[in-house]
Amino acid sequence: MNVIKKRIKIAVAASAALLMLVYLYKTLMTSPTVLIAANSVEEQRHWPPTEHAEQRKLQNAYEAQTALLHQQRQEMFRTKEQLAQLEEQVRSLQASTPRKYPKVKYLNYKNRKRILITGGAGFVGSHLVDYLMIQGHEVIVVDNFFTGRKRNVAHWLGHENFELIHHDIVNPLFIEIDEIYHLASPASPPHYMYNPVKTIKTNTMGTINVLGLAKRVMAKVLIASTSEVYGDPTVHPQPETYWGHVNPIGPRACYDEGKRVSETLSYAYAKQEKVQVRVARIFNTYGPRMHMNDGRVVSNFILQALRNETITVYGNGKQTRSFQYVSDLVDGMIALMASNYTQPVNLGNPVEQTIEEFAHIIKQLVGGVSEVKKIKAMEDDPQRRKPDITRAKRILNWEPNVPLETGLLKTISYFRNELARSDRFQENSRKYFESPDMERQLT
Ligand code: NAD
Ligand code: UDP
Ligand code: UDP
Repeated sequence: MNVIKKRIKIAVAASAALLMLVYLYKTLMTSPTVLIAANSVEEQRHWPPTEHAEQRKLQNAYEAQTALLHQQRQEMFRTKEQLAQLEEQVRSLQASTPRKYPKVKYLNYKNRKRILITGGAGFVGSHLVDYLMIQGHEVIVVDNFFTGRKRNVAHWLGHENFELIHHDIVNPLFIEIDEIYHLASPASPPHYMYNPVKTIKTNTMGTINVLGLAKRVMAKVLIASTSEVYGDPTVHPQPETYWGHVNPIGPRACYDEGKRVSETLSYAYAKQEKVQVRVARIFNTYGPRMHMNDGRVVSNFILQALRNETITVYGNGKQTRSFQYVSDLVDGMIALMASNYTQPVNLGNPVEQTIEEFAHIIKQLVGGVSEVKKIKAMEDDPQRRKPDITRAKRILNWEPNVPLETGLLKTISYFRNELARSDRFQENSRKYFESPDMERQLT
């Protein structure tokens, strides 16, 4: 019995010792020190490194890189958020800081009018905007920016009396106003010939919409007509009673006939719907804010002279024009709108010169070494043009008072600045597109 007991004791002790050994072995094998040692033993066993070990190294490097990228991306998002917050702060600061506007007069409710200017972002329109804003009126500009620019009226953006609406006047327009100056239409031959159908639509459908609007809200409306309604005139100078000499199917017809229909519509609405209309027949006008590429003689000659390029006279240069400075025109339009006169009124400067003479005047005022050269004539180019302004003098007590030289010097200075501006812009774009960053993005 004692022997059996002894054997059981020995067996229990042996089992316990075995269990202890197994436990000790497991603990040792999973400890980091032993693992590293085992790995290095493993590596030593497989030296030089096997494909497997290389892969693991690559995997580790990849994981480290991914973690870094993730961290950088987080930082980038944080920076972007901060930037957006800063931008928002700048915006709200700008909104709360009053912008500097040209000084406007205060008009009480009774005298202040809501005035719509179609084509108000163009050359003439923008000068009219300035005048009416400074007088203290509320001005709404409607423009499709075909030849006009936001820049022409940018100095009024945000002013409480000013509103700019991007709208094509060929489509109906429903707003509440007291007066309308309807100027929307391309005016330079290259611009109005660019899309003749659109030019006709603007001057017919556009004018119908303007007159329909005037009828609904009982607004007074001034239509910007043109000396082109006289075509290539056989009467000189041209009084308002002259019916004109227009080729109805020539390259200028879209504009000339468009404006003639515009006048016809005005008098039809006046007669039938009792709309109060004013019709200004505007002769060649020039001044700052003319479009650099409008192809008209003033901008062409000045730019050619400033660049020392050939001054291009179309045809023999014996055709004549009479040029009025834009501020004179604005005064005339304001006087016409304020009057009770409903028949057409010529607004232009009667000082007449040949285009060849005009080329030499510009060359002399600009200086430089341009050559004056005669090239191919324009089809249907009116040969003589000079307004008879007896009516404007009598009815409106208006006549132009800016001498040609004074007006041209202001216009030359404007074009000189525009050229410098466009050169600066080109230089900046060149630098930008040639910068290494941009090259990387483009390739
Ligand atoms: P402009 O081209 O500088 O201005 C015309 C404006 O009308 C532009 O802002 C243009 O974007 C806008 N416009 C054109 N089509 C439009 C449309 N469908 N809807 C809305 N806006 C549109 O020309 P400008 O020299 O300022 O001429 C203004 C007006 O005076 C025109 O009606 C023109 O026929 C008349 N006019 C000008 C002269 C002149 O020598 N400047 C001479 C005679 C008549
Ligand atoms: N019209 C507009 N704004 C108005 C009123 C009219 O643009 O506030 C448009 C109208 O859509 C129409 C045109 O002007 O195409 C001529 O209007 P009118 O009332 O003379 O003609 P009708 O609408 O009777 O055809
Ligand atoms: N003209 C010119 N060279 C030019 C641009 C115009 O000789 O580079 C002439 C044109 O043939 C016209 C006159 O200048 O006889 C006035 O042209 P513009 O286009 O200014 O207006 P228009 O009175 O013909 O509408």
